[in-house]
Amino acid sequence: MTVPTSPAVPAAESASPAASLRDRAVWIFDLDNTLYPASCNLFAQVDRRINEFIAGHFGLGLDEARVRQKRFFRDYGTTLRGLMVEHDVDPVAYMDYVHDIDVAGVQPSALLAGALDRLPGRKIIYTNGSVRHAENVAGRLGILDRFEAVFDIAAAGFVPKPDPRPYATLVERHGIDPADACMVEDIARNLAPAHALGMTTVWVRGDQEYEKAGVGAGIHIDHTVDDLPSWLAAVAEAGAAGAGAEGAA
Ligand SMILES: [Mg+2]
Repeated sequence: MTVPTSPAVPAAESASPAASLRDRAVWIFDLDNTLYPASCNLFAQVDRRINEFIAGHFGLGLDEARVRQKRFFRDYGTTLRGLMVEHDVDPVAYMDYVHDIDVAGVQPSALLAGALDRLPGRKIIYTNGSVRHAENVAGRLGILDRFEAVFDIAAAGFVPKPDPRPYATLVERHGIDPADACMVEDIARNLAPAHALGMTTVWVRGDQEYEKAGVGAGIHIDHTVDDLPSWLAAVAEAGAAGAGAEGAA
């Protein structure tokens, strides 16, 4: 019931919790800065496109557009939500524009692909972006076919995380038992509704303020991870070691 106080290195996640996680029925993964590292800077491209979209839509300079974008993000959770609520912007046109990016900077991850292969549970991508974006990025990572579904912002009725309503929709539509599910995210506050439903929460620690907000101040995090592919591989391996590993734990 406590937030980890010393999440310094992935190795801090011992075999014991990893073994207990391996057989979870469902794994729910955020996409951006979770399934690929923030160091790819991919989201910087999306961020730039968002700003350009706002500048073009309102006839603003890029600096003014940035101020407006930050307010939308702060008040509504995503820029799109603010654009829709206050300005009736077409979400499909917006998504097509902001996700028209070059994913060459994302490196295919054989480690992540292998870990996903060895985890027996169902896997779903849950993103505030679009299916097209998820397919583009996960395809580049070489992991798209490991997921049975992408639950995107359209599936969520264009209500973004961390509003609890789309989490309930996700659970119902995909027949998920939250008590037997893990959710993996870089934005800590997006884990709060997952925990409230009874899911195990895995925070892929980010260094941006919007990613860290709430950590140590009420958001329940079960596992803190710096390197998701390595951690997930350890989870899969811990289980694969079988009764011997459990007996030693
Ligand atoms: Mg993310």
